[in-house]
This record gives sequence, C-alpha cells and structure tokens, in this order.
Amino acid sequence: MNVPMLDLVAQYQTIKNEVLPAMMQVIETQQFIMGASVPQLETEVARLSHAKHGIGCASGTDALLLPLKALNLTPGDEVITTPFTFFATAGTIHNAGGTPVFVDIQPDTFNIDPAAVKRAITPRTRAIMPVHLYGQMADMLELMAIAKSRGIKLIEDAAQAIGARRKIDGEWRVAGELGWVTGYSFFPSKNLGAWGDGGMMVTSDDAGAERLRKLRLHGGARQYHHDEVGTNSRLDTLQAAVLLAKLPHLAQWSAQRREHAAYYTKAFADIPQVKPPYVDPSNEHIFHQYTLRAERRDELQARLKKEGIGHAVYYPIPLHRQPCFAHLGYKDGSLPQAEHASREAISLPIYPELTRAQLDRVIDTIRGFYQ
Ligand SMILES: *Cc1c(COP(=O)(O)O)cnc(C)c1O
Repeated sequence: MNVPMLDLVAQYQTIKNEVLPAMMQVIETQQFIMGASVPQLETEVARLSHAKHGIGCASGTDALLLPLKALNLTPGDEVITTPFTFFATAGTIHNAGGTPVFVDIQPDTFNIDPAAVKRAITPRTRAIMPVHLYGQMADMLELMAIAKSRGIKLIEDAAQAIGARRKIDGEWRVAGELGWVTGYSFFPSKNLGAWGDGGMMVTSDDAGAERLRKLRLHGGARQYHHDEVGTNSRLDTLQAAVLLAKLPHLAQWSAQRREHAAYYTKAFADIPQVKPPYVDPSNEHIFHQYTLRAERRDELQARLKKEGIGHAVYYPIPLHRQPCFAHLGYKDGSLPQAEHASREAISLPIYPELTRAQLDRVIDTIRGFYQ
C-alpha cells in the first residue's frame, strides 16, 4: 500500500457536490473579478480570525508582501524573522525593500525564539515577522511585548496556521488576532486550500486595511485614481467561491489532523530514534505538518521513498544559508538550532482523509527501519 504525502483527490471526492455548484454560480454570472464571493469570504475569514477586516489577495506571498510594502521600508530597514520557514517569509522582506534579520528558533516548537528577537532589535528594526510553523502558534505574548515596547509592527505569517489557537491569560486567542496584519495562504496543499493560488490579509487596523485594499488594486480605491503605486493582487472570485464552500469543513479537517497526530505520537513513543512534534500546552495545533526529528534522517527518507510512503523535508536549507542571502553574512553555525532542525526534520502524511491502515503502514515502516 502506497501512502501519498497529500491526496487532494480524496478530499475532492468528499466535497465536489458542494464546490462545483458554487463555482458554476460564478461562471453563470461571469463576475470573475471581485465578485460577491470575495467580500463574503473576507467577512468569514476575518470573523474566524477575530479581526475586523479581511482583504483577499492573489497568494500567501502577496499577503505578506503588501503589509510589508505598507511599512514604506527604506534601504537598511530591518525586519526580524525566522530562518526556518518557507522562502516567501524572507523573500517578501527583501522584495519590499527591507533587510531580513534572521534569528534562531526554539528547538521544541521550531518557532522563532522571542529572546533572540529581543537581542536582534536595532534602531533600524521596523517589524517582527513570526511564522506559526507547521500550524502551531509562536509565542505571541512575548513578541507582542517586544513589538509594543519598541513601537514596531508585528506581521504574522499564518500561511500554515488558519484556525490555530493559543491560550493567553486563560483566553483562547487565534492566529490573525494579535499581530498588526496577518497573512494567510490558500495554496492548494494548505489546511484551507483553493483550487489554485490565493491569499488573504486580516487586520483590525482600519487605516491599515484601507491601505492594503489600495495596494492590491494599483494603489487606488477608485478606478483610474492612484494615490500611490500598488499592484494587481486580487483574490480570484472562482477561488473565493471554492474557499467559501470548503470553509465550513475546516474545523473538522483540522480536528482529524490532530487525531492522526495523536495516533502517530502514541505509536512513536517506543521508538527512541524519533522525536514526535512537541505541542506547547498553551497551543491548539492544526497540524498543517506532522514533523518528527529523526536520527539518520536522510537514510529514513530513502527507506520511505523505497516503500512508497510520502514524506517531505521542511526545510532542508535554512534561509540564512541560501545563496541569495549570502550578502547578509551569516555562516554555518550562525543559527545552530535552525541548522540542526534542517538536518533532523521530516514530515509525514497527515491529511484528514488518511485511513487507519495508511497510518499503520507509515508507523510500521518507520519502526522497521530502526529495528
Ligand atoms: C505557503 C507559505 C507561504 C506562501 O504562500 P503562497 O500562497 O504559496 O504564496 C508563506 N509562508 C509560509 C510559511 C508558507 O507555508
């Protein structure tokens, strides 16, 4: 039995009778650009995020780029972020005219280390961009305190964390609620995936929302009036319709991911060579990824490949070691926790539609490898 890393066809089979009519409705009206589904989805996602405004855009990458653009960075302005993330997190800082400043991660959660953020603050720091990696929120309370005391912005990269929660002072706070602006991705493999590219920003800052709405539409709220230079980064109406149809399932899908994760973690308890993901007791994880630390990771990967078991290494090269950022001067050993994680991390299939038999097959293969 092969076990794919992700099986979007399995999900499609369960929801096509809801999604296809929603798409047909858009097609019948031919309102492909900023049709009714877009503001509807914006309202729904803002509500889910406990935020006032949702602003759809073309991708998760743009959902980070546009708020960074709204900061009007000038050369030498710094944005502190994690090196252990998807490339877009740092690529957008560069493309917005800023300098990414990478700091190390916490080895247990793989998320940005607030103590390291604090040490990296300079007079040029304009923002902090934490990533809620794999679907588990970063230590927002600490990060908010740092940002507030320095008067700098907090931009959440929640591309992997829509619906994730964290208990702060006894209350559940969600991804998207605590930062200045939060970016989501609707890339098809994300927990809430479109049938193409898509993204959204959420914020409770009225002026910020206004600015982001302009930036995604060539800098003008009114057609042919341009207050500043923006770009074309709209969320496609067809994608918004797909997402609206899928959204009611999201909580259930994330719950199924958590169940699979608990099943794996229990089974791996007696395999000392692998370390299951640590879930901070304050967090409700949505398991966008289920990521082990594994001894002899590359050999394990080869075995899984041979056995037809899906897996992935997120991320094999931390961003401070990427050739495009060589000019920033980081060296091997500069950020040891991120580098260590990049040598040990391996993600296993965790999509909601996995069967017990498939989970067992993954577990047995890993057990067999270490025996
Ligand atoms: C997927 C992802 C993005 C970018 O989203 P796209 O929709 O692919 O542009 C940004 N940051 C992280 C952490 C991601 O996982």
